[in-house]
Amino acid sequence: MPPKKTLHCSFCGIPILRNEFHVTGIAGTICEDCIEAASEILKDFQIQTKKRSKRSELKFKLLKPIEIKERLDEYVIGQEEAKKVISVAVYNHYKRLLHAAQDNNEVEIEKSNIMLVGETGTGKTLLARTIARLLDVPFCIADATVFTEAGYVGEDVESILSRLLQAADYDVEKAERGIVFIDEIDKIARKGADNPSITRDVSGEGVQQAMLKLLEGTTVNVPPEGGRKHPEQKFIVVNTQNILFIASGAFNQMDKVIAERLNTNRIGYNQENRVLDKNNMMQYITAQDLKMFGLIPELCGRFPMITYLSSLDKVALKRILLEPKNALIKQYERLFIFDGIELSFSEDAVDFVVDKTIELKLGARGLRSIMERIMTNAMYEFPSSGKKKIEIDKKYAAEQMGEK
Ligand code: ADP
Repeated sequence: MPPKKTLHCSFCGIPILRNEFHVTGIAGTICEDCIEAASEILKDFQIQTKKRSKRSELKFKLLKPIEIKERLDEYVIGQEEAKKVISVAVYNHYKRLLHAAQDNNEVEIEKSNIMLVGETGTGKTLLARTIARLLDVPFCIADATVFTEAGYVGEDVESILSRLLQAADYDVEKAERGIVFIDEIDKIARKGADNPSITRDVSGEGVQQAMLKLLEGTTVNVPPEGGRKHPEQKFIVVNTQNILFIASGAFNQMDKVIAERLNTNRIGYNQENRVLDKNNMMQYITAQDLKMFGLIPELCGRFPMITYLSSLDKVALKRILLEPKNALIKQYERLFIFDGIELSFSEDAVDFVVDKTIELKLGARGLRSIMERIMTNAMYEFPSSGKKKIEIDKKYAAEQMGEK
């Protein structure tokens, strides 16, 4: 019998051992390494052609502002003004995009980026994330402090867009209509003589210039998924022109800046006397206040929609614990259903959680950490307790917090 011929890969020519993976067709054989390389090249090609393909149908659900607001109400408690402003801004933004695509002419789309101002834990991120989910557009969160003066085409901006691409399943067109949430924008404000709480020096301005480019619309070369493994793999070009940016910041003591401006105007320019709600100065926020705080005018100009989120009082925190679709209390109750336990919380236990949260000064963010502390032992012991019904009362909650 003639000796068996050694198989060679028809692409790279390397011999294939008998137990190595390979695919043999009519006219040749391909080894595992070449299959892998070809699949990467194919993926690249598909991404590029997807981008070039006819202006892909804009397939997101365009809800009307009132519908958007109603859906937001299911998840975000209070913050009526912010929900209204964001519903309108987002609706206008995507309406413009839709029309530009349908008219097929180069209508210049004016962006309506949004600035959310409010203390930590008031729902800024929740609002942006919920909007993206409702509209079914890709979403990612970036910290403003990742912008470097070195230039916007730095690695950090690439990594933001890379995350957005990932959220869009590497559909470039989809990513180009996504939402980028920029957190802590107040941290890059330049030092303002009026506000001693800002510690950054003037160099903040360079960082703001860098961010400006991204907001104005630019193209960024983003490395493909997992970085460029082969030199022949192309960068993915992402245009930021139609990406909606939602910036957010706590802007500590902003209310004082607003109060000062309104006061100065009234006396200085002898303006008509307005009755001001001194307990909620944030409602009067304008771009001028952001400038006072150290944001450069060009950057303020890129955020035509400015709105505020109020700090959450007892009533709001209690509602947050109980009402949203994914309210914490509902989550714990559900968790124990799997153990056949009907869990409930007494009214005074809920009030106790709210009081403890207020002490933490972390907004609604504090609710989770308090609840975790109260529920840790319960989650450990209850599943083996054999009980069918358990109520968490104030006494139990206080004990878990180390109080008598
Ligand atoms: P921020 O971005 O303002 O610091 P987040 O949106 O991250 O705050 O809020 C932290 C968590 O607190 C959210 O995930 C959510 O569970 C809860 N939360 C905050 N504000 C609200 C609100 N207005 N309605 C419902 N839940 C809220």
